[in-house]
Amino acid sequence: MATAADRSGDDPAFVFAGGRPSLDLVATLGRRHATPVERIPDAAALARWFVAAGLLPTSPAVSDAQLMRARRLREAISSLVRSVMSGSPVSGEPLAIVNGHAMRPDLTPQLVLEDGRPVVTTAPGADVASALAAIARDAVRLLGGPQAARIKECEHADCSLLFVDETQSGRRRWCSMGRCGNLVKTAAYRARRQPPGG
Ligand SMILES: [Zn+2]
Repeated sequence: MATAADRSGDDPAFVFAGGRPSLDLVATLGRRHATPVERIPDAAALARWFVAAGLLPTSPAVSDAQLMRARRLREAISSLVRSVMSGSPVSGEPLAIVNGHAMRPDLTPQLVLEDGRPVVTTAPGADVASALAAIARDAVRLLGGPQAARIKECEHADCSLLFVDETQSGRRRWCSMGRCGNLVKTAAYRARRQPPGG
Protein backbone atom coordinates (compact mmCIF):
# COMPACT_ATOMS: atom_id res chain seq x y z
CA MET A 1 0.00 0.00 0.00
CA ALA A 2 1.37 3.42 -0.93
CA THR A 3 2.15 5.86 1.84
CA ALA A 4 0.60 9.32 2.04
CA ALA A 5 3.90 10.87 1.00
CA ASP A 6 4.08 8.66 -2.11
CA ARG A 7 0.59 9.63 -3.10
CA SER A 8 0.80 13.38 -2.55
CA GLY A 9 1.74 14.13 -6.15
CA ASP A 10 -1.13 12.15 -7.67
CA ASP A 11 -3.90 14.72 -7.43
CA PRO A 12 -3.14 18.16 -6.00
CA ALA A 13 -6.82 18.72 -5.18
CA PHE A 14 -6.88 15.92 -2.59
CA VAL A 15 -5.49 16.33 0.92
CA PHE A 16 -4.39 13.46 3.14
CA ALA A 17 -3.38 15.22 6.35
CA GLY A 18 -5.76 13.51 8.77
CA GLY A 19 -3.78 10.40 9.52
CA ARG A 20 -7.02 8.37 9.29
CA PRO A 21 -9.19 7.55 6.25
CA SER A 22 -12.32 8.79 8.04
CA LEU A 23 -10.78 12.25 8.61
CA ASP A 24 -9.39 12.30 5.07
CA LEU A 25 -12.90 11.69 3.71
CA VAL A 26 -14.16 14.65 5.78
CA ALA A 27 -11.35 16.70 4.16
CA THR A 28 -12.90 16.21 0.71
CA LEU A 29 -15.06 19.18 1.63
CA GLY A 30 -12.42 21.78 2.39
CA ARG A 31 -12.40 25.31 3.80
CA ARG A 32 -15.63 24.74 5.69
CA HIS A 33 -15.26 28.02 7.62
CA ALA A 34 -14.83 30.10 4.44
CA THR A 35 -16.18 29.28 0.96
CA PRO A 36 -16.27 25.48 1.00
CA VAL A 37 -14.30 23.59 -1.65
CA GLU A 38 -15.90 20.37 -2.94
CA ARG A 39 -13.05 18.01 -3.80
CA ILE A 40 -15.35 15.20 -4.98
CA PRO A 41 -17.63 17.21 -7.31
CA ASP A 42 -18.60 14.12 -9.35
CA ALA A 43 -18.50 10.33 -9.33
CA ALA A 44 -15.22 10.22 -11.29
CA ALA A 45 -13.50 12.39 -8.67
CA LEU A 46 -14.66 10.04 -5.91
CA ALA A 47 -13.29 7.08 -7.88
CA ARG A 48 -9.91 8.85 -8.10
CA TRP A 49 -10.04 9.67 -4.40
CA PHE A 50 -10.49 5.99 -3.41
CA VAL A 51 -7.29 5.16 -5.31
CA ALA A 52 -5.37 8.21 -4.04
CA ALA A 53 -6.42 7.31 -0.48
CA GLY A 54 -4.96 3.82 -0.97
CA LEU A 55 -8.32 2.17 -0.26
CA LEU A 56 -8.89 0.63 -3.69
CA PRO A 57 -6.12 -0.52 -6.04
CA THR A 58 -7.90 0.61 -9.21
CA SER A 59 -10.56 3.20 -9.99
CA PRO A 60 -13.98 1.66 -9.31
CA ALA A 61 -17.16 2.43 -11.24
CA VAL A 62 -19.00 4.95 -9.03
CA SER A 63 -22.67 5.78 -9.54
CA ASP A 64 -24.22 9.13 -8.67
CA ALA A 65 -26.17 7.38 -5.89
CA GLN A 66 -22.90 6.09 -4.42
CA LEU A 67 -21.43 9.59 -4.62
CA MET A 68 -24.41 10.86 -2.62
CA ARG A 69 -23.95 8.04 -0.07
CA ALA A 70 -20.25 8.86 0.28
CA ARG A 71 -21.01 12.53 0.84
CA ARG A 72 -23.73 11.65 3.40
CA LEU A 73 -21.24 9.42 5.24
CA ARG A 74 -18.67 12.23 5.07
CA GLU A 75 -21.03 14.74 6.66
CA ALA A 76 -22.15 12.21 9.28
CA ILE A 77 -18.51 11.59 10.29
CA SER A 78 -17.84 15.33 10.29
CA SER A 79 -20.82 15.93 12.57
CA LEU A 80 -19.80 13.16 15.00
CA VAL A 81 -16.18 14.32 15.13
CA ARG A 82 -17.19 17.91 15.84
CA SER A 83 -19.59 16.81 18.59
CA VAL A 84 -16.87 14.74 20.21
CA MET A 85 -14.32 17.58 19.90
CA SER A 86 -16.65 20.15 21.45
CA GLY A 87 -18.07 17.79 24.06
CA SER A 88 -21.60 18.46 22.81
CA PRO A 89 -24.27 15.73 22.60
CA VAL A 90 -24.01 13.38 19.61
CA SER A 91 -27.19 13.25 17.54
CA GLY A 92 -28.75 9.99 16.42
CA GLU A 93 -28.92 10.50 12.66
CA PRO A 94 -25.19 10.73 11.89
CA LEU A 95 -24.59 7.87 14.32
CA ALA A 96 -27.08 5.69 12.40
CA ILE A 97 -25.48 6.58 9.05
CA VAL A 98 -21.96 5.69 10.24
CA ASN A 99 -23.10 2.49 11.96
CA GLY A 100 -25.12 1.48 8.88
CA HIS A 101 -22.03 1.63 6.67
CA ALA A 102 -19.85 -0.02 9.34
CA MET A 103 -22.19 -3.03 9.37
CA ARG A 104 -21.39 -3.90 5.75
CA PRO A 105 -18.49 -6.15 4.67
CA ASP A 106 -15.15 -4.35 4.94
CA LEU A 107 -12.23 -4.30 2.50
CA THR A 108 -10.15 -7.47 2.69
CA PRO A 109 -6.41 -6.94 3.19
CA GLN A 110 -4.11 -9.35 1.37
CA LEU A 111 -0.36 -9.79 1.28
CA VAL A 112 1.29 -9.83 -2.13
CA LEU A 113 4.99 -10.10 -2.90
CA GLU A 114 6.92 -7.21 -4.40
CA ASP A 115 10.57 -8.12 -5.04
CA GLY A 116 10.11 -11.01 -2.63
CA ARG A 117 8.82 -8.79 0.19
CA PRO A 118 5.23 -8.89 1.45
CA VAL A 119 3.20 -5.71 0.99
CA VAL A 120 -0.44 -5.11 1.86
CA THR A 121 -2.98 -4.69 -0.88
CA THR A 122 -6.75 -4.95 -1.14
CA ALA A 123 -8.27 -8.20 -2.36
CA PRO A 124 -9.67 -8.10 -5.92
CA GLY A 125 -13.37 -7.44 -6.18
CA ALA A 126 -13.37 -4.66 -3.58
CA ASP A 127 -16.13 -2.22 -4.38
CA VAL A 128 -17.37 1.21 -3.34
CA ALA A 129 -19.63 -0.19 -0.59
CA SER A 130 -16.75 -2.03 1.08
CA ALA A 131 -14.51 1.04 0.83
CA LEU A 132 -17.20 3.14 2.53
CA ALA A 133 -17.58 0.38 5.15
CA ALA A 134 -13.83 0.55 5.83
CA ILE A 135 -14.05 4.32 6.29
CA ALA A 136 -17.08 4.02 8.59
CA ARG A 137 -15.33 1.36 10.71
CA ASP A 138 -12.31 3.62 10.95
CA ALA A 139 -14.59 6.39 12.26
CA VAL A 140 -16.14 3.98 14.79
CA ARG A 141 -12.72 2.92 16.12
CA LEU A 142 -11.36 6.47 16.08
CA LEU A 143 -14.29 8.09 17.91
CA GLY A 144 -14.68 5.22 20.36
CA GLY A 145 -10.96 4.97 21.15
CA PRO A 146 -8.24 6.93 22.93
CA GLN A 147 -7.20 8.84 19.80
CA ALA A 148 -10.53 10.71 19.80
CA ALA A 149 -9.00 13.07 22.37
CA ARG A 150 -6.17 13.84 19.94
CA ILE A 151 -8.32 15.02 17.03
CA LYS A 152 -7.61 18.65 16.21
CA GLU A 153 -8.57 21.19 13.61
CA CYS A 154 -5.91 23.16 11.74
CA GLU A 155 -5.46 26.58 13.36
CA HIS A 156 -5.55 28.51 10.08
CA ALA A 157 -8.80 30.51 10.25
CA ASP A 158 -10.14 29.38 6.86
CA CYS A 159 -8.83 25.82 6.98
CA SER A 160 -11.14 23.21 8.47
CA LEU A 161 -8.90 20.16 8.05
CA LEU A 162 -9.01 17.66 10.90
CA PHE A 163 -6.10 15.49 11.97
CA VAL A 164 -5.00 13.18 14.74
CA ASP A 165 -2.12 14.83 16.59
CA GLU A 166 0.31 11.94 17.02
CA THR A 167 3.24 14.10 18.14
CA GLN A 168 4.62 13.22 21.55
CA SER A 169 4.26 16.82 22.73
CA GLY A 170 0.66 17.05 21.47
CA ARG A 171 1.46 20.47 20.01
CA ARG A 172 0.74 19.97 16.32
CA ARG A 173 -1.14 23.06 15.10
CA TRP A 174 -1.43 22.77 11.33
CA CYS A 175 -2.80 20.35 8.77
CA SER A 176 0.67 20.77 7.32
CA MET A 177 3.44 23.32 7.67
CA GLY A 178 3.57 23.73 3.89
CA ARG A 179 -0.15 24.36 3.43
CA CYS A 180 -1.09 26.51 6.45
CA GLY A 181 1.73 26.81 9.00
CA ASN A 182 3.94 28.89 6.72
CA LEU A 183 1.01 31.06 5.55
CA VAL A 184 0.11 32.03 9.12
CA LYS A 185 3.73 32.58 10.13
CA THR A 186 4.39 34.80 7.09
CA ALA A 187 1.24 36.84 7.84
CA ALA A 188 2.28 37.25 11.48
CA TYR A 189 5.79 38.33 10.41
CA ARG A 190 4.38 40.92 7.99
CA ALA A 191 2.02 42.23 10.70
CA ARG A 192 4.96 42.69 13.11
CA ARG A 193 6.93 44.67 10.50
CA GLN A 194 4.00 46.97 9.79
CA PRO A 195 4.74 50.42 11.36
CA PRO A 196 2.18 51.59 13.96
CA GLY A 197 -0.88 52.96 12.22
CA GLY A 198 0.42 51.65 8.87
ZN1 LIG B 1 -4.69 23.90 7.40
